Amino acid sequence: MDGVAVCHTFLQLFRFVEQEVLVKKLIEGLKHFQDHVLWERREQFERSVQGQKPQALLITCSDSRVLPETLMQAEPGDLFVSRNAGNLVPPSDAPSGEAATIEYAVTALGVTDIIICGHYRCGAVRAILHPEEAVELTKTSEWLSYRNVPTCTAKGCGTRPSSETCWSRSTTCRNTR
Ligand SMILES: [Zn+2]
Repeated sequence: MDGVAVCHTFLQLFRFVEQEVLVKKLIEGLKHFQDHVLWERREQFERSVQGQKPQALLITCSDSRVLPETLMQAEPGDLFVSRNAGNLVPPSDAPSGEAATIEYAVTALGVTDIIICGHYRCGAVRAILHPEEAVELTKTSEWLSYRNVPTCTAKGCGTRPSSETCWSRSTTCRNTR
């Protein structure tokens, strides 16, 4: 086995161990939730068993660093959430999870506010601006073709987000009530 192969095997082993550690951490987190958090917030979770009456529908990115409930200090039942790469909403003339989610939120749950929330340095927005960097991600590229590049609403910008500067600007949220 040459040095490169040894390195590759070691890297694979490291990734496996790292993944095992993460899965173990997630399982321990769930157990902690069941044993402690669920009891401490019992009344709140018992109320949520009765049904849901969310205040708003939030459409945001799948990015693992975006934590809507944490960022907005929302409680269980406050937000009806739809997440996808780039917080996009495809045209309504074709069936999609986003269309079904919006229909259910508005028609069945009576939600009146829809918030579309992007985030700083979004990989999906990057791929829209630089499609040549995502050519191997065929499904992602197809999905991102649903984009409708809006005028940037970041303070003092007002341009279409077609530059590196605009991509790296701060989080932009639009309330589409
Ligand atoms: Zn994103």
